[in-house]
Amino acid sequence: MINGEKHTEAPIRWGMVGGGKGSQIGYIHRSAALRDNTFTLVAGALDIVPERGRSFGIELGIDPSRCYADYETMFAAEAQRADGIQAVSIATPNNTHFAIAKSALEHGLHVVCEKPLCFTVAEAKELEALAAAGKKVVGVTYGYAGHQLIEQAREMVARGDLGEIRLVNLQFAHGFHSAAVEEQNPATRWRVDPRFAGPSYVLGDVGTHPLYLSEVILPDLRIKRLMCARQSFVKSRAPLEDNAVTLMEYQGGAFGTVWSSCINAGSMHGQKVRIVGSKASLEWWDERPNQLSFEVQDEPARVIERGMGYLYPPALADDRIGAGHPEGLFEAWANLYYRFAMAMEASDRGDAARLAGIRYPDIRAGIEGVRWVENCVRSADLGGVWVDYV
Ligand code: NAD
Repeated sequence: MINGEKHTEAPIRWGMVGGGKGSQIGYIHRSAALRDNTFTLVAGALDIVPERGRSFGIELGIDPSRCYADYETMFAAEAQRADGIQAVSIATPNNTHFAIAKSALEHGLHVVCEKPLCFTVAEAKELEALAAAGKKVVGVTYGYAGHQLIEQAREMVARGDLGEIRLVNLQFAHGFHSAAVEEQNPATRWRVDPRFAGPSYVLGDVGTHPLYLSEVILPDLRIKRLMCARQSFVKSRAPLEDNAVTLMEYQGGAFGTVWSSCINAGSMHGQKVRIVGSKASLEWWDERPNQLSFEVQDEPARVIERGMGYLYPPALADDRIGAGHPEGLFEAWANLYYRFAMAMEASDRGDAARLAGIRYPDIRAGIEGVRWVENCVRSADLGGVWVDYV
């Protein structure tokens, strides 16, 4: 159970790049990091517009002298201070992640980076090498992985409750961009522009989320080859897709699908993971994250509830309030930030055994997301053909 007691000698001194006023994702980073006494926000380069970033930083309670105009100035200045930042979170548009993460690692900082980690596997590997050389943690905010019932699903698969795994049906298909909302909304505009978004829109923006959940729940599955078709139903978004379907053959015979979409009109989020085994199936839906459906063939379906004593122990480790009370996305993110902090602390102490025991979306998860998008785009741009997974 998480209940806010101190688990690090002192909170980790933490800065943010991006996540400025009015950004979509800045507040949940701060809320999650500051929830459990593990981080303290002491510096920021919060906005592409320096003055706006500075005034927002002051509103957040950051010392004005540590509200910086840009990340390079922040990393250089903080490195000169005895009480300089130890970790930084990057919550900026996709095209900036690689350069900012690289600079942060070169300045000896632990990094939490938004997804997609970067644009190419080659870049991701460069970050991995830098992190390894500096013994730094890189966390990637696949936030849904902090939901407790994902741990239950992982345990149920590992214990054979589903039998042999046959199908992995993944989707993240919302409807918020069914029309060309980017004409009015700058936060959507960069998402449909390859200069800022990278080689894909929905594959990287939403598809990688359930993909990572499948990696947590089914750690032994390896994609052998895949086929992807992508479309731009709002024509002005081409070459970036607003809908994509990916088919995946796994080594060992299981088969998977991922539907990534922002034009699923009427759908709120539509992120679902359904795992079909030879005996039973599991289904989790991010709009009802406190419930997991367990369907055994020839038996009435069961609803497994978060926080209940019958759960496997890993699914209770991050419980904050007990069953019945709904926990949500903010708690899931806080659970991840808690693990990021524990990993940073173990890494700083050189405690390799402890570090190895903390599972969080790490640099390998970041690499795998980028790799999957690269393979999907390659298949789609060849006309939707099967390609070996490289
Ligand atoms: P946004 O456009 O709403 O906000 C971006 C923020 O970054 C703004 O405050 C902007 O001023 C600032 N910024 C831009 N360039 C900067 C720079 N060079 N230095 C400092 N600040 C800079 O975008 P968003 O929706 O918050 O998305 C940001 C990132 O978060 C994206 O990579 C996106 O894919 C990711 N995201 C992740 C999730 C998730 O569930 N993990 C959800 C939404 C967004």
